[in-house]
Amino acid sequence: MAGRTNGGAEHPPGDYRGAVMIDGKPDIEDVLQAEGIETRRGWGLCPFHEDKHPSFKINRDRQTFHCFSCGAHGDAIDFIQKLHNLDFKNALKYLGMTPGRPPMVDPKQQRKRELLADFEQWRRDKYNDACDFYNDIWHVLRACKDMEEISQHAPMIHQLSQIENEILVLSEGNHAEQYELYSAGI
Ligand SMILES: [Zn+2]
Repeated sequence: MAGRTNGGAEHPPGDYRGAVMIDGKPDIEDVLQAEGIETRRGWGLCPFHEDKHPSFKINRDRQTFHCFSCGAHGDAIDFIQKLHNLDFKNALKYLGMTPGRPPMVDPKQQRKRELLADFEQWRRDKYNDACDFYNDIWHVLRACKDMEEISQHAPMIHQLSQIENEILVLSEGNHAEQYELYSAGI
């Protein structure tokens, strides 16, 4: 069985393209079959040592192989690496796979999320401030004894409608209206 190392010549990479993909990997059974390793109920002759009795076991759930005689173990990629003496990159190439990349964080999306988070924080703070201010004004006005005293707070009263409007925009307004307040630096 040692002579199997050139077995890949009969099975160009394209052979695996129809294989069932699990996590981007071809099914280990398909890979073994394409390499001429016959298995019955998951057991076969190990290609990595002189195996007279099947000691090579496939775990279909885990998509791994294990030889109980020589200890060879791994997944479809390990199998191809070992069988054809290939490095990882070339084993992927052989299997018609492209190397997996970790998901990239899009810097533009990231920046957008940060800006939206900042904006939302501003909106909440501003809304709370406006409500507090509104209540403070009413507290002062209610404490007034007469109209004369109230009229002394004219600038404050004037602010009331502005604050009411701010509260309305900050709580129910759309982003454009809120952004208008935001960019006005209020
Ligand atoms: Zn073995």
